[in-house]
Amino acid sequence: MISRPRSIFFSIHVPINPHFVALLEQNNNYLAYLIAGLSPIIAISFFVASARDPGYLRQQHNFLELLTKIHPSEMCPDCRVLRTPRSRHCAICNRCVERFDHHCPWLNNCVGYRNHSAFLTFLLSLITCLFAILVSCI
Ligand SMILES: [Zn+2]
Ligand SMILES: [Zn+2]
Repeated sequence: MISRPRSIFFSIHVPINPHFVALLEQNNNYLAYLIAGLSPIIAISFFVASARDPGYLRQQHNFLELLTKIHPSEMCPDCRVLRTPRSRHCAICNRCVERFDHHCPWLNNCVGYRNHSAFLTFLLSLITCLFAILVSCI
């Protein structure tokens, strides 16, 4: 199922892309090559960051047994897992995420340990592409 942020992203991104691919045939414009080259990187990193498990903590032990051995502050009462030092509970996903950064409404997913590199790739390639679009308009 495609969520609303994904459908908004592709409804904006896909119609723009052929315009800049057409620029490849004009004037040998290196910015058009950059924009056309970054477009698949943006799309792939967006899909990876939004579809990949961000590092949800899984229940590995008996919760009640752990409560007798470990201080309750080290356990998450909502998802009943043992917290790691940099994990946090996401109120939107209602799960604990390892190395939690934030819940991204555009990805409709948390950004954590397993999808942080894809998220940064998406951000950097998108910013570079938007900057190249701005420069090509000058
Ligand atoms: Zn939790
Ligand atoms: Zn979340």
